[in-house]
Amino acid sequence: MSAVANLNLPDATGHFGPFGGRYVPETLMHPLQELEEEYFRAQHDPEFQKELSYYLTEFVGRPTPLYFAERLTKELGGAKIYLKREDLNHTGAHKINNAMGQILLAKRMGKTRIIAETGAGQHGVATATVSAMFGMKCIIYMGAVDCERQMLNVYRMKMLGAEVVPVHAGQKTLKEAVNEAMRDWVTNIRSTHYILGTAYGAHPYPVMVRNFQRVIGDEARAQILEKEGRLPDLLCACVGGGSNAIGLFYPFLEDASVKLVGVEAGGLGIRPEQHAARFQGGSLGVLQGTRSYILQDEFGQIQSTHSVSAGLDYAAVGPEHAWLRDARRAEYSYATDDKALEAFMKLARLEGIIPALESAHAVAECLVRAPKMPQDALIIVNISGRGDKDVSQVADKIGLQMPQ
Ligand SMILES: *Cc1c(COP(=O)(O)O)cnc(C)c1O
Repeated sequence: MSAVANLNLPDATGHFGPFGGRYVPETLMHPLQELEEEYFRAQHDPEFQKELSYYLTEFVGRPTPLYFAERLTKELGGAKIYLKREDLNHTGAHKINNAMGQILLAKRMGKTRIIAETGAGQHGVATATVSAMFGMKCIIYMGAVDCERQMLNVYRMKMLGAEVVPVHAGQKTLKEAVNEAMRDWVTNIRSTHYILGTAYGAHPYPVMVRNFQRVIGDEARAQILEKEGRLPDLLCACVGGGSNAIGLFYPFLEDASVKLVGVEAGGLGIRPEQHAARFQGGSLGVLQGTRSYILQDEFGQIQSTHSVSAGLDYAAVGPEHAWLRDARRAEYSYATDDKALEAFMKLARLEGIIPALESAHAVAECLVRAPKMPQDALIIVNISGRGDKDVSQVADKIGLQMPQ
C-alpha cells in the first residue's frame, strides 16, 4: 500500500502506518484505555466542545491573529509572509491549547490531581495555570538542568501553586522528567491525570494533543482565506515533539497544493549528540510509549541531544510526523543554533516581535525559502511562543551588555 496522507489516522490501535501505538507497562494499559474512551466521548460531546471553546476564547485569548509581516516580507523580497501569533496566547505559547483541553477532560473524569513533565517550562506553566484555575493539585516534573536554565518558569509555576520536582537522573532534562511523570502516574492512577505536553507518547496522546492543537490550523485556514482569498503555498513550524506543527498542518493535510515544512533543532551541526534533528540520522525505535524516529546508537541506547532551545531538545519525534515524512506529505529540515539566533534577532528588529527560540527555528527556515519564492506566493510561519523566557540566554550569547 502506498502511503497517503489523510485525516483519518491514527487507526483504532493508535497507529499512523508503522508509527505510534501503545508501548507501556501492563499497569498503564487500562488507564490509557479509559482515557481513550473518555476522550473520544468528550470529543463528540457538544457540551464539552462548548466549554472548551468558552475557555479558549475568554481565558486563553483566542483566536490569535494571523499577522502580515510587512517589513520582513520586503526585506526578503519574495513570498508574502504571515505569522500565526500563538505567542499571544495567555502564558505565552501554544501549550495552553492542549493543557486547557486536557484539564477539562480530567475534570470530567473526576480526577483531582494533575501531573505533567516539562522541558523549557512552557508546558509546566500552562499546566500549573489551568490547575490553579480549576483548583486542582499540580505536580510538575522537570529535569534539574532545565530547572536551572529556565528559572523564570520554575518561579512562575511555584507562584501558580504547583509543586516543581527536579529530576536528577540521567541527562537531567526532558526525557528523565517524562519517566518520572509516568512513574508517578502508575502509582496514583485513581486520583491523577497526566497532562502530556506534546503530540507524543502512547495512544491516545498523539491524536488527542493534535486535536486540541488543530485550532491553530483551523483558525489560520479561515484567516488566510479571508485575507487572501486562497490557501497558502507553504506552512512552516518548528518540531520538538511536534504539537504546534501538527496543530497547524492537520487541517491542510488534504490540500495537496499546500507545502508543509517542519523544522527540527540542528544544534551545533548534524554530528552525534550535537543536535536534536531526529530525521537527520535518527532511526526507527520505541521510546516512552510510542514507535517513531529516535536518535539512538547502534545498541538502541538513546543518544544525548543538544539545542539552544530546551523545547526542541528531545531524542524522539511524534509518530504522526514520522508518518507524514514517510508518506512524503511533509518535509523536515533543520536550523542550527546560530541560524535560529539570527532569525530571533531579525524578527525582533524588523517586526517588533521577540519569538521563543523554538519558534525562531521556523523563522530561520522562512528566511531561506521566502526569497526563492515569487512575490505572489504565501507563507504562514507559526510563532509558537514568545521569547521572554529566552532573553537572558540570548543576551549572553550575542554579548549584550547592561548599560553602566
Ligand atoms: C514546547 C514548545 C515547542 C516544542 O513543542 P512542540 O510540541 O513540538 O510544539 C515549540 N515552541 C514553543 C514556544 C514551546 O514552548
